[in-house]
Amino acid sequence: MTQEEVFKQLTAHAKEYGFVFQSSEIYDGLSAVYDYGQMGVELKNNIKKYWWDAMVRLNENIVGIDSAIFMHPKIWQASGHVGAFNDPLIDNKDSKKRYRADVLIEDYIAKLEEKIAKDVEKGRRKFGESFDEAQFRATNPNVLRNQQKMDEVRSRMTEALNANDLQGLRDIIIDCGIVCPISGTKNWTEVRQFNLMFSTQLGNISGEDGIIYLRPETAQGIFVNFLNVQKTGRMKVPFGIAQIGKAFRNEIVARQFIFRMREFEQMEMQFFVRPGSELEWFAKWKEARLQWHKALGLGDEKYRFHDHEKLAHYANAATDIEFEFPFGFKELEGIHSRTDFDLSNHQKFSGRKIQYFDPETGESYTPYVIETSIGLDRMFLTVLSASYCEEKLDNGEERVVLRIPPVLAPVKLAVLPLVKKDGLPERARAIIDDLKFDFNCQYDEKDSIGKRYRRQDAIGTPYCITVDHQTLEDNCVTIRDRDTMAQERIPIAEVERIIRERTDYKPVLRKLNKIG
Ligand code: ATP
Repeated sequence: MTQEEVFKQLTAHAKEYGFVFQSSEIYDGLSAVYDYGQMGVELKNNIKKYWWDAMVRLNENIVGIDSAIFMHPKIWQASGHVGAFNDPLIDNKDSKKRYRADVLIEDYIAKLEEKIAKDVEKGRRKFGESFDEAQFRATNPNVLRNQQKMDEVRSRMTEALNANDLQGLRDIIIDCGIVCPISGTKNWTEVRQFNLMFSTQLGNISGEDGIIYLRPETAQGIFVNFLNVQKTGRMKVPFGIAQIGKAFRNEIVARQFIFRMREFEQMEMQFFVRPGSELEWFAKWKEARLQWHKALGLGDEKYRFHDHEKLAHYANAATDIEFEFPFGFKELEGIHSRTDFDLSNHQKFSGRKIQYFDPETGESYTPYVIETSIGLDRMFLTVLSASYCEEKLDNGEERVVLRIPPVLAPVKLAVLPLVKKDGLPERARAIIDDLKFDFNCQYDEKDSIGKRYRRQDAIGTPYCITVDHQTLEDNCVTIRDRDTMAQERIPIAEVERIIRERTDYKPVLRKLNKIG
């Protein structure tokens, strides 16, 4: 199966088992907006808890807040979002479809890349064992021509984007003969800048003055509360403020399922440090965040850093942690050294003094900031795509199993009576009544035991417990492991301890270093 097919199966699976639904589906859906179902919400909550505890519980000098989505409109001027949070857009006059100009060009580059890959494949088949790929790439005229074209288009695009040259972007589209995927024509409008913020209107103020925005990031809610938290929490620099919450962006190209959404959730932490020490902290946070990801055991080789060459105007260092999704390595989390840009600008725009008085040195300064920012939905997709597995079993049967790290699994334990009679259901329910305060448990008595195991595998339940006739005599049950499918007989009195040991956050959190 190609990775594309795997991804299709994965999205179908996410719907079939109650993880993710298209928003407003009975009205044919609202694009790039999704709802989380009964399993999805549990997984999402578990990811949030892992992040929150790793930030706020593990580190004495990090505290959390929950700021409002609506904020004073001036905040978005101070942050630069009103002026510069834009995508370059182009419309096709025949299909009336709108595209991001840079994405059209990137798709064109990807097609050239595909052509090269096809030629290389052809060469490999033709020359067999003696095939030397490097030499083929360096000499084959078709490959050379396409590679040169690719390099040229890419460098023109980077130049145009850096210079904010909208006409330059349009020229590339025209010169390359890029057509609209819907109408197939080259009937393009000019390229325009399009602000990604959603706006709405306050009820009590008419006109321009009443326009407010749905926040495009949670970070600004942290910056504007810097003094509140620092003073009321008696926080000493270095310290951090963490927040989990919804953000909204009017994304033009919304694809790849929950990778790019118009309404999504962010988990952001702003760490305030002494000016001059920011690059040291940036390096520490890079490592700490990678460690957080790797501690889940989804596969160390699936992560890599991508350091930014072109920095945003407010940053003096930035990197992405990329994850290998089924559609390639893509940004999962951003770590940015934002200097004092945000606090200084809020000081300027609000007229309030936003400074920190250092009691040890007796000086006042505007702290610098290291930000870690991860999309909760992208993290959800990371867990799902790393866990999804189609397996052929020894007996010839197939199963789909979600190997979700037990600590994040939506349901920790399923309790299954072997048959629906002879007092077994009552016994199974008694076990759940005892354990439901500790774990999210599921009871299932329908269908054969094999089918019930499959259902639990499909939602990633790490352990199933089967109650059989012997249980009534010896107070023991069979515990089945999702990944190995191994079964073990254990006393009922031991179940809580065993499940706790194997699904607890503690061992995962213990792998992480404190910061600060
Ligand atoms: P991208 O380049 O993918 O648009 P970005 O660089 O604009 O992302 P940031 O502004 O740094 O992203 O946001 C921080 C994190 O928020 C990202 O790493 C990502 O995990 C998440 N995120 C950003 N935009 C979206 C979106 N439209 N849908 C889901 N998650 C998002």
